[in-house]
Amino acid sequence: MAHRVTLIPGDGIGPEVAAAARLVLDAADVGIEWIERHAGTAALDDHGELMPEETLRAIRDSRVALKGPITTPVGTGFRSVNVALRQGLDLFGAVRPARALPGVPIRHPSVDLVVVRENTEDLYAGIEFERGSSEAAALREELRTLGGYELREDAGITVKPISVSGTRRIVRFAFEYARANGRKQITVGHKAPVMRYSDGLFLRTAQQESRAYPDIGWDEVQIDHLTSRLASRPAEFDVLLLPNLYGDIISDLCAGLVGGLGLIPGANIGWEYAVFEPVHGSAPDIAGQGKANPIAMILSGAMMLRHLGQQTAAENVGWAVDEVLARGEIRTPDLGGSSTTMQVAEEVATQVTAWEHSPS
Ligand code: NAD
Repeated sequence: MAHRVTLIPGDGIGPEVAAAARLVLDAADVGIEWIERHAGTAALDDHGELMPEETLRAIRDSRVALKGPITTPVGTGFRSVNVALRQGLDLFGAVRPARALPGVPIRHPSVDLVVVRENTEDLYAGIEFERGSSEAAALREELRTLGGYELREDAGITVKPISVSGTRRIVRFAFEYARANGRKQITVGHKAPVMRYSDGLFLRTAQQESRAYPDIGWDEVQIDHLTSRLASRPAEFDVLLLPNLYGDIISDLCAGLVGGLGLIPGANIGWEYAVFEPVHGSAPDIAGQGKANPIAMILSGAMMLRHLGQQTAAENVGWAVDEVLARGEIRTPDLGGSSTTMQVAEEVATQVTAWEHSPS
């Protein structure tokens, strides 16, 4: 086999979309050896933890993983597995392309943008102090001493660290991505006037780094204004460069612009490892019903193929998805159809095979 890939089916609709993506990627026939490992609630029963060490080890061994969504139990004290994974493997850059797809009716048909999100810092760094804890009380006291800040006694606290080194690498990553993918303009989103020492640092560092890339256009927009412009004139944007929290929110907004969460793929990239996963979550409301749209997971697989150096196979999968969507006969309920997850996958796999065998 040419490529070893760790496959993590995940929770909810994860196993359904993972099986669908696997079918399509196997049809692309580039010799993937799948190492299946569990994470999320599926792992909790067998291993007593949401992210077992053997799953992390498998990703470290194969260096590349395709991952379904994982449910984070709310309010139980469990840390998000996704956040732990991105930090543990230092997957500092998230790439989430949102483009108008054929046959999917949307308000702004010329949208074609990419969200590049910093993945390890900011309010998602996981530095939190529970309301009423002794740590929260100690931090309140410290803040009072340091700057006269008075936090309410019943406050929970989440810390927002943003560093120069963390920002520098994501800015360079975004510019290099733009160059490599024929993108012309980077827009950074921030709220620097209010959060001077976190967003302000992100903006100033990004401005400095941008000077090394005179061939790529540069723009900066405050995050609230950016949401309004994205809702009304999204075609103006090319690459959006965002700190962690804004990147998460804006990715879902962009998914809405191009037809929904079932269509948006994603990659989490670090120096050593890469984990590909759709932007959507585990969708418990439709899990187990065969209704999940597998296209976001299939396109995440296409991004993975490109990362593995399988450019032609990646393009074939992209064309096959476009072809199935353009025909409009086989599509899941989120796109107004009545086909199942596996029917969509089988049709995409058939088109992949047809592309492979068509005369060039
Ligand atoms: P969600 O993305 O799971 O669902 C939001 C809505 O979009 C739901 O109505 C769902 O049915 C729909 N949807 C999502 N994916 C779809 C698909 N492929 N096809 C058709 N419809 C789809 O978001 P949520 O409900 O806020 O989160 C559910 C769980 O997923 C939570 O535990 C959350 O923490 C987790 N989550 C995980 C990841 C990840 O693993 N990367 C990302 C986001 C959320």
